[in-house]
Formats: sequence, structure tokens, C-alpha cells
Amino acid sequence: MTKFDAVVVGAGPNGLSAAIALAQAGRSVKVIEGAETIGGGARTMELTRPGFRHDVCSAVHPLGLGSPYFRQLPLEDFGLKWIQPKIPFAHPLSPKEAVFVERSVAATAAQLGTADGEEYSRRIEPLVEDWSKMEPSILGPILRVPKHPLTMAKFGWVGALPAASLVKAFSDEPAKAMISGAAAHAFKPLNRMLTASFGLLYPITAHRFGWPFAEGGSQSIIEALAGYLRSLGGEIEVGRWVKRMSDLPPARATLFDVTPEVLMGIAGDILPNFYRRQLGRFRRGPGTFKVDYALAGEVPWLNKRLGLAGTIHIGSSESIAAAEAAIWKGHRPARPFMMVAQQSMSDPTRAPAGQHTLWAYAHVPGGSTEDFSSGIEQEIENLAPGFKDLIIERCIASPTDLADYNPNYSGGDITGGAYTVMQTVFRPVPGRSPYATPAKGIYLCSSSTPPGAGVHGMCGYWAAQSALKRDLA
Ligand SMILES: Cc1cc2nc3c(=O)[nH]c(=O)nc-3n(C[C@H](O)[C@H](O)[C@H](O)COP(=O)(O)OP(=O)(O)OC[C@H]3O[C@@H](n4cnc5c(N)ncnc54)[C@H](O)[C@@H]3O)c2cc1C
Repeated sequence: MTKFDAVVVGAGPNGLSAAIALAQAGRSVKVIEGAETIGGGARTMELTRPGFRHDVCSAVHPLGLGSPYFRQLPLEDFGLKWIQPKIPFAHPLSPKEAVFVERSVAATAAQLGTADGEEYSRRIEPLVEDWSKMEPSILGPILRVPKHPLTMAKFGWVGALPAASLVKAFSDEPAKAMISGAAAHAFKPLNRMLTASFGLLYPITAHRFGWPFAEGGSQSIIEALAGYLRSLGGEIEVGRWVKRMSDLPPARATLFDVTPEVLMGIAGDILPNFYRRQLGRFRRGPGTFKVDYALAGEVPWLNKRLGLAGTIHIGSSESIAAAEAAIWKGHRPARPFMMVAQQSMSDPTRAPAGQHTLWAYAHVPGGSTEDFSSGIEQEIENLAPGFKDLIIERCIASPTDLADYNPNYSGGDITGGAYTVMQTVFRPVPGRSPYATPAKGIYLCSSSTPPGAGVHGMCGYWAAQSALKRDLA
């Protein structure tokens, strides 16, 4: 068998990013993917009817465009084009009223009333301006000394708090609901520490980068990464699930784009007992219930401006707080928090002319097999009467379907592991390097490592740096 400097298991965005970083450093590298196609959580498929291109998992990419690693790569030369919807995201308050998070902080603040608008600008504007100083700390292992400690402290002092405190800083529902929706990306009760960081981060990214889609679908990000990797001499093999270490070709380093539980299944017998025990305590987050629609026309939003928003969060500040608290305990939420993305409104390659796709998901208890699609449809119908009549076909995926689709999504957790305080700071386990395991040549490079979930490639980039220092120097 050919010997490689490095083998990467899993061709998700982090696996491919790790492989690129190693190939850029002149190391020979092979990626082995279990599924028949590359992409992990960033595939695009005709899930409903021919001509309707649905993002199977990730759709909205503020951290893809904002990724300091992706920025260095010639991904446009390999076909990636970002598409910016006119409005990054919106949060309806009733069928007719909504907050629109615009590219401009001032235009967003102007919708929040005088006092909340001033509060929003005062908190968000400096963080948007200073993003480039904070970015290396936010998008890397947290336990490094920040290069700009004072700037970082501006984010950290508020971000470390529960989102509920940040929400309380505002008086009225428009700002409260919008911040709650952003904070819900933590998939965690909003009264827990560190959830405010999500409530700040997502509006900051909307102002700084927009919330773009990839033209043609998220798969274009993957094809661009794979194209660049191949141009550097990297190899990719698909259709080979790695079950044990003996399935792998010889290599000085093996980087796993998998979760701790998958790693233990493959390499458990060469990991020391103490590390296995630590990995065994790794906590998974709640689940996601996903629906993709093929639609006969545009969603008939009563508030027409909602059609211009790429992403829409649905829920009141109260219902979001209650839902995130319920799913954390494994309980069914009365009204799940929902996110909707309308890619075909700004990217005509997604659906046949005059027709549309719609991507929606709800936060639900981990492992749930319940069908939440009628609740999701009713929420959209309430804001857009006539929506249900436009549905040509739907494709649903429960948390257990998502886990069957990708072993990394055990229980339908799409964040690579819960954002408990420990697993936000130390991800996956406490230790000096989150990426290197105690076993020689074995690394984790998935979203179960810092900075966590999202299609940004930063976990892969940092894991590769760790391997280059330790086993591939
Ligand atoms: C429904 C849903 C919606 C999402 N929405 C967004 C969004 O809008 N924006 C965003 O930024 N992120 C979103 N995400 C999260 C994002 O998709 C993930 O954070 C990201 O894909 C993680 O990348 P990764 O490379 O770490 O792992 P993955 O993308 O999970 O890739 C891992 C790869 O490893 C392969 N693999 C696993 N085990 C083995 C094995 N034993 N042998 C061989 N191959 C193996 C898998 O098949 C997979 O291809 C969403 C995820 C889901 C599921």
C-alpha cells in the first residue's frame, strides 16, 4: 500500500481544509470518505424533484465567507461564487411586522425604536469594526492568548454571559426576539453562560460579511475545496467507510473529520484509557428536524420584504427561550425555534424557472423520531397564507434520519457536540491541544474541535497545523 504523510478520514469541509493545509505544506495526503460523494454537511442534492437543488445540511454561510482560512484559498478559481441576498436575515414579529437585520448597523438599529436602537448600535458597532482583531480568537482554539486582549474583552465580557442578560438589556420585543433567534444557534438554554456570544456573533457576521449562499448550492464550496486539493496533488477516495485503523493506508499522521464517538469506534484500542474516558463523557447537543420543499412559486409572505431576506428566524423571545430550555432536557418544545432559508430567491440555479426551493429546520429533542413538518408548515402559513398550496413535494429528515445520513450527526445534533461551557472552551476534552490525541499520529479535525460547527474549515486548518508541528515537522 502507498504510504502517505497524512491520511484524512472524512471529506467534510473540515477534512478537506485539513488536507489542503497539509498539501500546501508539501505533505502527501489522501482523503478517504465513507459516502459515495464528498461534502459531509455541505452537500447539495435534488432531494425532491429533478431541477430542484436542495442544500441537504448547511445553507447559509456567514462564517464561510468570513473564514480567514477560506479567504487565503483560491476557491473562486475553482468555481465558488458567493451570492448575497438583499437582506442577511429577518425575524418576523407578526404576519405583518418583522425586524430586518441589514448589512448596515444603523439601518438595523433604526427599526428597533430609539432606546433599543441606540443600545444595539452601542454594543454591535464597535464589535463589527474590530472584527478583524477578534477573528483569530473567535475562530481558533479559545485557550490562546489573544493578540488584542482589550478588543477581545469587549466581546468576551458580554459574550460570556447568558443570552437572557443580553436580551434584558433591550426593552422591546423586536430587539429581544432578534437577539434570541441569533443566540438560539447555540442550541442551548438562553439562561446558560456563553450563549450571549452567539447572540452577538450572528448579527456581527450579518453586518460584516452578509449571510451568503454558494451559487449552485453548498456543494460548490466542497467542489472548490476538492478541486484545489487535487491541484496540489491531494487524492480523494469515496465509498470507503473506515471502521478500524487497519482499514487505513500507512501514514505518519491520520486526521479524523469525525466526532469523538466515531473516533472511539475506529481507534479506541490505541487511545489511552484516561482519554477514552474523557471522550466518553463528550455530550451531544439537541436535534434538528429538517424539511426541504419544492414550491410552485414564491412564498407569499404577507410582509413582502421577507422575500428579500436570505434567512428567516421564527419564534418570539419567550417561545425561543422556552424551546431551547425544553430540547436541552430532551422535552418536546411547545413551539420549536425555526430557521428558514430561501436560496432560490437570489440564486436562480436552484429551481426551474418560476419555481422555488425552501429550506427549513426546527430545533427539537435529540434522537426524536416525531414528524414536526406540519408544525413547521403551519408557522410559515401563518406568515404567508397560501404557502401550503404551493408545495409540490417535500423531503423530511428527522434527527434519526440525519444521524443515518452522516454518523457525525448522532441524535440529529448538527453542532458536532453540545456547547456546554466546558465543550465551548475545551472542545472535545480539556487538554493542551484540542486536535492532537495522546496516541501518536492521531488527530481530530471535525467540528467537535474549536471553533466548532459551521462550514469555515477552521477546525481542519488548526488540526493540520497541530499535525505539522508534532508528527509531520
Ligand atoms: C441540517 C443542517 C443544517 C446546517 N446548517 C448550517 C448552515 O446553514 N451554515 C453552517 O455554516 N453550518 C450549518 N450546518 C453545520 C455544518 O454542516 C457542519 O458544522 C459542518 O459540515 C461540519 O463539517 P465537518 O467537516 O466537521 O464534518 P462533516 O461535514 O460532518 O463531514 C464529515 C465527513 O466524514 C465522513 N465520515 C464520517 N465517519 C466516517 C468514517 N468512519 N469513514 C469515512 N468517512 C467518514 C462523513 O460521511 C462526512 O462526509 C448544518 C448542519 C446540518 C446537518
